[in-house]
Amino acid sequence: TLVLGIESSCDETAAALVTGERVILAQAIASQDEEHAPYGGVVPEIAARAHAERLAPLIERVLGEADIGLAECDAIAATAGPGLIGGVMVGLVTAKALAMATDTPLLAINHLEGHALSPRLADPALDFPYALLLVSGGHCQILRVEGVGRYQRLATTIDDALGEAFDKTAKILGLGYPGGPAVERLAMQGDPQAVPLPRPLKGSKEPHFSFAGLKSAVLRAKESGEHADADIAASFQQAALDCILDRTGRALHEMGDVNAIVVAGGVAANRTVRSGLEALASARQLPFIAPPLALCTDNAAMIAWAGVERLKAGFSADPLDLKARPRWPLDPDAPPARGAGI
Ligand code: ATP
Ligand code: MG
Ligand code: FE
Repeated sequence: TLVLGIESSCDETAAALVTGERVILAQAIASQDEEHAPYGGVVPEIAARAHAERLAPLIERVLGEADIGLAECDAIAATAGPGLIGGVMVGLVTAKALAMATDTPLLAINHLEGHALSPRLADPALDFPYALLLVSGGHCQILRVEGVGRYQRLATTIDDALGEAFDKTAKILGLGYPGGPAVERLAMQGDPQAVPLPRPLKGSKEPHFSFAGLKSAVLRAKESGEHADADIAASFQQAALDCILDRTGRALHEMGDVNAIVVAGGVAANRTVRSGLEALASARQLPFIAPPLALCTDNAAMIAWAGVERLKAGFSADPLDLKARPRWPLDPDAPPARGAGI
């Protein structure tokens, strides 16, 4: 099996070729950090234009590097949502055009499914079902991953996503965009106990996450002028971790048997988050699996891999008139959390 993957849902333009044997034959990624940095966040129009300019050359480069013709691919897999609609459309339309021109099947991939299955690209031993903490720029969910296309959502955020909380904390501390890695770096020089910060919903009977109150407390701590920025960063990271561990521990009770505790999405690149979850898993005698850092943040290898998984699971190709979806929950039947859109 050989799949070309295309990703363009946020501010990474990416293409990759991945085989059924988990080999990434080639991959290329163009980040738009420089374009969006002056605005302190992703500007949708700028993102869509940048995707449109960069995607075709990236695909050509990947095919060239691997010396593969499009006709040799079993499918072209593109993110079809959720995400910034302009960017998603650029990737999806490009995939449709290539699919039509070469008579290759199109696979419309849910970006979150890409994140959710990415740990299996890196680790052949990871079997379903597993407990997944999906923590990214737009999402913060706990899922029971039961198979390809089978996701049971147990928790989501009622306000901000975890990556969003990192990004807002970075903004408050003047660390620029993108914020997560910068907060992590500064936190290494700070004291995680120095600033008293809330742990929203910790110990709550309901399963969900909330980070808006934590972000407001970070703002107050900064404005008080009483704390060093590094201490604020470290204390924020610790508070966020405490919330995650509490919520994940709670969800595990409800979830039934799983083979592993798994983390994915951009915030899975955070070392404090990884080591906290690793300790939680080992206390429960479960393996802990986190993808390599480059597979945590947005990339096309995970989209191609989700395509491989869908082919292997017997899913058929998607129609060429399929529409891009700005919102697309992984578990459409899950009741919405109070106050949360999806
Ligand atoms: P989604 O996947 O929900 O659509 P996205 O695609 O924008 O959102 P990802 O690329 O998966 O998000 O993740 C980006 C997020 O991860 C950003 O919020 C970023 O700050 C955060 N992030 C990246 N690296 C780190 C890190 N080392 N520590 C904390 N957060 C991080
Ligand atoms: Mg990004
Ligand atoms: Fe993402």
